[in-house]
Amino acid sequence: DQLIAIFSKLEKHYRDMQDVEFTIENGKLYILQTRSGKRTAPASIKVAIDLVSEKLITKKEALLRIEPEKLDQLLHPTLDPKAKFKYKLIATGLPASPGAGVGEVVFNAETAVKWKEAGKKVILVRAETSPEDISGMNAAQGILTARGGMTSHAAVVARGMGKCCVSGCESIAVSEIEKKFRIGDLIVSEGDLITLDGSTGEVFLGEVPTVNPELSGYFGTIMEWSDKYKKLGVRTNADTPRDAQVARDFGATGIGLCRTEHMFFQADRIFAVRQMILADTAEQRKVALAKIFPMQKNDFLELFKIMKGFPVKIRLLDPPLHEFLPKEKADIEALAREMGITVEKLQDKIDSLHEQNPMMGHRGCRLGISFPEIFEMQVRAIAEAACEVIKKNNVIASEAKQSLIPEIMIPLIGEFNEFKWLKDRLVPVIEDTIKKYGVKMTYEIGTMIEIPRAALTADAIATEADFFSFGTNDLTQMTYGFSRDDAGKFLKDYTDKKILAEDPFKTLDTVGVGRLMKMAVDLGRSTKKKLHIGICGEQGGDPATIKYCHQIGLNYVSCSPYRVPIARLAAAQAAIEADK
Ligand code: PEP
Ligand code: MG
Repeated sequence: DQLIAIFSKLEKHYRDMQDVEFTIENGKLYILQTRSGKRTAPASIKVAIDLVSEKLITKKEALLRIEPEKLDQLLHPTLDPKAKFKYKLIATGLPASPGAGVGEVVFNAETAVKWKEAGKKVILVRAETSPEDISGMNAAQGILTARGGMTSHAAVVARGMGKCCVSGCESIAVSEIEKKFRIGDLIVSEGDLITLDGSTGEVFLGEVPTVNPELSGYFGTIMEWSDKYKKLGVRTNADTPRDAQVARDFGATGIGLCRTEHMFFQADRIFAVRQMILADTAEQRKVALAKIFPMQKNDFLELFKIMKGFPVKIRLLDPPLHEFLPKEKADIEALAREMGITVEKLQDKIDSLHEQNPMMGHRGCRLGISFPEIFEMQVRAIAEAACEVIKKNNVIASEAKQSLIPEIMIPLIGEFNEFKWLKDRLVPVIEDTIKKYGVKMTYEIGTMIEIPRAALTADAIATEADFFSFGTNDLTQMTYGFSRDDAGKFLKDYTDKKILAEDPFKTLDTVGVGRLMKMAVDLGRSTKKKLHIGICGEQGGDPATIKYCHQIGLNYVSCSPYRVPIARLAAAQAAIEADK
């Protein structure tokens, strides 16, 4: 009774869950020390909510006590607790990366990749992993290693990939050559099914059923409170109906970036896309575009349906065209046959599209200026899809309580005239479509701000643009002059040597890139007071970046679907801290 009374007193005094050390000697109780207890992600949520219901802390304090990044542990599938005990627990290692993984055992990266391509689910088992295993880890549902701790290669890489991992599972003896591992008398061979629980470190024989993350309960309460306090909207970057659905389930209230080029890579359309790129005349290009049009329109219809009236920002084609071209000999031959030209002629054309510095080359709005028919096709597909939805009585708009407003985003603008020239060509396409369908539709045409010159001239651009969205991947690349594709090789030296505190492609460089953003916000709103502004670079899902976005007055952040809950909490924390 005395101990429980002291526990309660300490918890009330510190207004937090305590980790208390005590001893009893000769019938006398001694308290040795107390401190705030360490906690896992689910515990941090439960403790915060319990403290609120005991009236020890406020809801705002509760939200500030949860680390947004930790929510990641709660967003992955887990083993069905009701089913798990029916399966044979064969080993336990370290819970190196959360989530559940089920698959057939393979012992090297090459097999993992091959089997995945053949449609199988695999678990990569190694004595320990090294950088050569990355492709195999990527292909696997989960990773099991016999050696290595919580910061081993396997553990760190798996956490980065969001894959489950059990490391340091010392009771298994792995023979990569014989393609089997042994635990006592039990032998598990290549192709046998196992299940990993990356949150507990358990390894089961067979395929244990999994359950999707529980987004209601305590988690739901935290999200509800977050939404109450946050000022920033949270949208998602989604290119497929599946991503859009995941993000909706996680509470995204719009798509902040749909990269349309990802829709071009699908096997059934890449052929037509290549014909479009390699066409010699606008007429030939239009023939190829006509093949792509119905597929694009269908993509947008799907997205609009899932988003149920929530805003969808669609970005027109961005990357340099040669990214779509065939590289394998067999693909080049097949394309030449289809196009009725020689392999040599096709190869010449492919070579002519080569660029020394493609990231600063013929991409984004520059493509639209050279080949306006590409952007026109995309905009017609967006407008027709939106008109069809609206014509069907706008039924799918119910959830957002507003009518569908397509938002068309032009990439890589650096100069007012680029934007104006393209907008003048795209508006008539949309107006024609609206007339054809006989509906009332509002639409917006805006731009990415991802080139420093766009930020510097944002007041002029805002006279024509309906919105801005910061593309901080390119804006960081071009402000720092760090290639976003190659800088990873040396940025670690910068962070290790404390020249930079953070990788600026992960956490926004508020001092430099952030200053450009603030300038663009202020300049843009000096011409258009209510200009709607967001961010859609990778940093948009990072809590420190979200805080800065709140401070400079953005309207929303957009991030990958699995980061949406993290962004909701971080946005609430930013608002609460700013009010203090
Ligand atoms: C960006 O540059 O930040 C952006 C979102 O566009 P992408 O990554 O497609 O270049
Ligand atoms: Mg970009």
